[in-house]
Amino acid sequence: MEFRQLGNTGLKLSCVGFGASPLGNVFGNVSDEDAISSVRFAFQSGINFFDTSPYYGGTLSEKMLGKALKALDVPRSEYIVSTKCGRYKDEGFDFSAERVTKSIEESLQRLQLDYVDILQCHDIEFGSLDQIVNETIPALQKLKEAGKIRFIGITGLPLGIFTYVLDRVPPGTVDVVLSYCHHCINDSTLEDIIPYLKSKGVGIINASPLAMGLLTESGPPEWHPASPELKSACQAAATYCKEKGKNISKLAMQYSLLNKEITSVLVGMKSVKQVEENVDAARELADSGIDEEALTEVGNILKPVKNQTWPSGIQQS
Ligand code: NAD
Repeated sequence: MEFRQLGNTGLKLSCVGFGASPLGNVFGNVSDEDAISSVRFAFQSGINFFDTSPYYGGTLSEKMLGKALKALDVPRSEYIVSTKCGRYKDEGFDFSAERVTKSIEESLQRLQLDYVDILQCHDIEFGSLDQIVNETIPALQKLKEAGKIRFIGITGLPLGIFTYVLDRVPPGTVDVVLSYCHHCINDSTLEDIIPYLKSKGVGIINASPLAMGLLTESGPPEWHPASPELKSACQAAATYCKEKGKNISKLAMQYSLLNKEITSVLVGMKSVKQVEENVDAARELADSGIDEEALTEVGNILKPVKNQTWPSGIQQS
């Protein structure tokens, strides 16, 4: 497993990160045994970075991840945990200082931890970005001073939210950005802002290399927000790979791992088999590179929908 520095944090993350949203049953039901064995196998395979949120499965993902990490029975310093605040299944969005301060206490209890490495404001395009700058991030700084969190992050879909916030906070206030669905075979727009993010000294995490299931043989879940056109193009790409005896998810994972400016590629996993496949994809990439022929063919199939995304968030004033 390759480890990469996360911005200026001093943290070294495995290039494959464990996305724990599937542990909240958001991609179908997962048993406690599968959750625990997936996390264990991931850790044994060199994955040291685990991401969750109170939102995933209405707190279930945090609880399952906490249980699975505890079962590892290794020193706390051997794994890096990120969770989020401001987005909740029952309450919706609340980025107030009061809510996020209470939120971390609840998360720590569910995760059975004394601190998290990164606390991220979850999907900030659904809140007021000025509130994030003026109220939420200052509240997170207090949590940092209190030792509840080590680093501060922001997450969301539209890339403009990152530049808006980073242009308005003092340098070094935001340590990490987590972008999703913008560095996969069908959408590479994250690349455009990497020089800017680097100039701001923030660490970059790329989530959803499989485009939340679009780039899998079995296809996306019911709730997936992509257009029918994007869904069918991805399905055609998956079928092409299958007919050639190749696997779209492996290719997608490898594509996401190619850019070394991105510290970790967070992929959602719910079984030992998926962990094994994704870790093998990373190893194979390091040993023999990507399958250029398949990448070109899949790129051609996806060309008509390249960089197509979907609306997310509220109109900012
Ligand atoms: P993803 O692109 O990682 O796809 C996950 C889906 O692919 C799941 O159904 C999973 O079971 C399946 N899968 C995983 N490995 C596979 C394999 N080898 N073959 C076939 N199928 C495979 O999408 P994701 O889970 O949404 O994103 C990864 C993680 O990133 C999340 O779990 C979460 O931790 C984080 N994330 C954060 C945000 C945010 O903060 N706004 C948004 C999206 C994702």
